[in-house]
Amino acid sequence: MRLFKYTFASLLFLVGAVSFAQETEKQKREPGHYNQSKFKQLYEEFATPNNYRSASGAPGPDYYQQQADYVMDITLDDKNAKIYGEETITYTNNSPDDLEYLWLQLDQNVRAKDSKAPLRNGGGVPLAEQPSSFASQYMGEPFDGGFNIDYVKDASGKALPYTINFTMMRVDIPTPLKSGEQYTFSVKWNYNIPDHTVNRARSGYEYFPKDGNRAYVIAQFFPRMAVYSDVEGWQNHQFWGSGEFALTFGNYEVDITVPADHILDGTGVLQNRKEVYTKEMMQRYEKATKSYDKPVIIVTQEEIEAAEKGFSNKTKTWKLKAENVRDFAFATSRKFILDMQAVKIGNRDVMAVSMYPKEGNPLWEEYSTKVVAHTLRSYSAHTFDYPYPKAISVHAKNQGMEYPMICWNYGRPNEDGTYSDRVKYGMMSVIIHEVGHNFFPMIVNSDERQWGWMDEGLDTFMQYMAEQEFGEAYPEAIAPNDKYPSRRGDPAKIVPYMSGDQSTISPIMSNPENVYQLGPNAYAKPATALNILRETVMGRELFDHAFKTYAQRWMFKHPTPEDFFRTMEDASAVDLDYFWRGWFYTTDYVDIGVKGIKKYYVTDKPTKKMQEYMAARNMTEADLPPLVYLAEEDSEDFDPNLKGKSPSESSQTLKEFMMDNMTAEERAAVKEPKYFYEITYDKPGGIPMPLIVEYTYADGTTKNITYPAEIWRKNDDEVSIVVSSSTELTGIVVDPKMETADIDTSNNSWPKKEEQNDFDQFKENIKGK
Ligand SMILES: [Zn+2]
Repeated sequence: MRLFKYTFASLLFLVGAVSFAQETEKQKREPGHYNQSKFKQLYEEFATPNNYRSASGAPGPDYYQQQADYVMDITLDDKNAKIYGEETITYTNNSPDDLEYLWLQLDQNVRAKDSKAPLRNGGGVPLAEQPSSFASQYMGEPFDGGFNIDYVKDASGKALPYTINFTMMRVDIPTPLKSGEQYTFSVKWNYNIPDHTVNRARSGYEYFPKDGNRAYVIAQFFPRMAVYSDVEGWQNHQFWGSGEFALTFGNYEVDITVPADHILDGTGVLQNRKEVYTKEMMQRYEKATKSYDKPVIIVTQEEIEAAEKGFSNKTKTWKLKAENVRDFAFATSRKFILDMQAVKIGNRDVMAVSMYPKEGNPLWEEYSTKVVAHTLRSYSAHTFDYPYPKAISVHAKNQGMEYPMICWNYGRPNEDGTYSDRVKYGMMSVIIHEVGHNFFPMIVNSDERQWGWMDEGLDTFMQYMAEQEFGEAYPEAIAPNDKYPSRRGDPAKIVPYMSGDQSTISPIMSNPENVYQLGPNAYAKPATALNILRETVMGRELFDHAFKTYAQRWMFKHPTPEDFFRTMEDASAVDLDYFWRGWFYTTDYVDIGVKGIKKYYVTDKPTKKMQEYMAARNMTEADLPPLVYLAEEDSEDFDPNLKGKSPSESSQTLKEFMMDNMTAEERAAVKEPKYFYEITYDKPGGIPMPLIVEYTYADGTTKNITYPAEIWRKNDDEVSIVVSSSTELTGIVVDPKMETADIDTSNNSWPKKEEQNDFDQFKENIKGK
């Protein structure tokens, strides 16, 4: 009868346990040691869950959001590049609070003559400046671009007092707006439209000197309700220029009057298509609604080349209606070619639309609408079915900017129609990115003003997946046998940023106004972190389900960072607090290496270390059960007689254990490893990551083992792992596929590779600068 069923591993583990106890005694335990653990839960950093936002990351039972509905009349004065507008806002207070006043956003005031925005930067003389920025800064009067408010009135026409503080306007209502009640009021305004090619405005016009026309891409053109929420109260961070927008959902009815020869499209469904389209356009449009494989051109290049010379004095009014959107934008010009195709999303048809001047061709006719359609399919598959009726990509010089159902994108060929791969891929990527913003933040409506990464990071991550999928879906559109050349997302690409000068790096969890390098901070780093989370830490199945859960829980709602972090853990059963801490709350980087390797053999004789352990406790061998030891080859424990023998040959204890506990068949089936190693891995980088190792053996075989990130939970600096094998270990490579963004790969191999790697080269190159 056998009382205990031991295995080799458990017996060796016993020895391991004794030596581990010894090590923890030695380990330095500074006061506060545990508090500094990178695996500590994020209770101090996270807001406490409540009835509005649950601990699971889902909206809580008392979750609410406000609603702002707009009815607007807009007129474009093309000759003077000016906008006139009147709006009636119906604001619904779904919060439990009574509101004493209402706050609106006047974003164009960032371009007012007396704007403080240009005065907030103290960086000294820049390295270089664009001529247009230089000229506007030093060579003339500041542009007069702010809102001119004609009136604010209540529903009965009585003037309401208001106070403008830079880009925000407080409207004082006569009595507080009670919880659950609605308030209706009107605003009339006008402003001068800026040239958006100067100072990187997010909307405005581009002037084409050759034909004297303007192409308008118009947004932030009306006083918009600020967000009131359980997290911020009234959103009160001004629009300084970098931090984007926080906006309330609502329904829009917008009439836009423009010159009669303009082509216009915008957020929402066109209500009077038959009035504003010609007969030919209507016929082509009907065809486009049934064309699922390629776009149908609705306004041709020949037609716009004729229209460019027209300058009609008549006007046309385009009527648009949008439901459940957080914003409204439109584009208009007599220069716009228009094409469309239908895309099947779930059981619905969505229209993919492009508008571009002839200056965008031939590139735009070839790719824009195709890329819009692909983006809607790809993003829908990873989140939820795109719920809006259309998505428009508008060509605008140097623009990459997103609004519900419509976005502005760059990518202009040379004048002779030729273009480089850089221009082509740049155009495709920006279209994927900006159309993708329909999902984050237009539908999953995060607060961009506070958290740039929640929309930019998630969108750039989705963009990376959509780009790779585009390369697979349209191999003819990319270089033969190549992958789509994504600029961001691949782990190796974030290394120069994360290994850079710490004084110019901020944690991802920073306000976009306060970071040094917004591109890597809010776009590339979170996108890379999520890509690593998906491919390396969680695996696609767990990640994709959790990410989809987040998108579906928060579609048409306002999530916070914690709602994202919590949902990703809640839906996957993976505790990621260490990952969020390392990647999102610090400026730490990843650097893991192999530090040393020691060879061992099996013996019954207590090792020097064990003898010391016993001596310290007044113990002798007689006080212990029979034990097995691993003795290091390069130490005084070494006994040359035991070299090359199997464990049961070199250990009488093991042999007796096997005789007592195993049947003859079991003994015959036992595998006896001949080589024992203790391998020490170190972690100079602050971020704990899974330890991915490729072991190579003398017989040419390799074995890949991924130790979970939790291997670093008790010692953040280094860990030692025991590996046994039947053939000799000849090589170790950490992170062989470069999937963790390890910033220094010179310590990733044993035996150490002597040749200089790319990173050392990179370090040497930048040293002189
Ligand atoms: Zn973006």
